[in-house]
Amino acid sequence: MPSRCPSKDCSGGGENRQKKIKVDQFSELSDYLKKPAMDLSRCSYCGCVYETRNQRILGFLDGGVVGEGWKPITE
Ligand SMILES: [Zn+2]
Repeated sequence: MPSRCPSKDCSGGGENRQKKIKVDQFSELSDYLKKPAMDLSRCSYCGCVYETRNQRILGFLDGGVVGEGWKPITE
């Protein structure tokens, strides 16, 4: 199965691993991302969190590589 994850380092991010972010996950993100209009998805394989619309990567949440918690890429 081809990877659908926007992270180029992710080898197992198939279609079924890409999910809309859950409310309890959303609450862990940086404050600037907590807007109702933000449509975010997360790869459950690597933990990559990205904008669903344009696949821009925002950070990683509870990823197998980066560990527990929220790790933003940009501010
Ligand atoms: Zn991934």
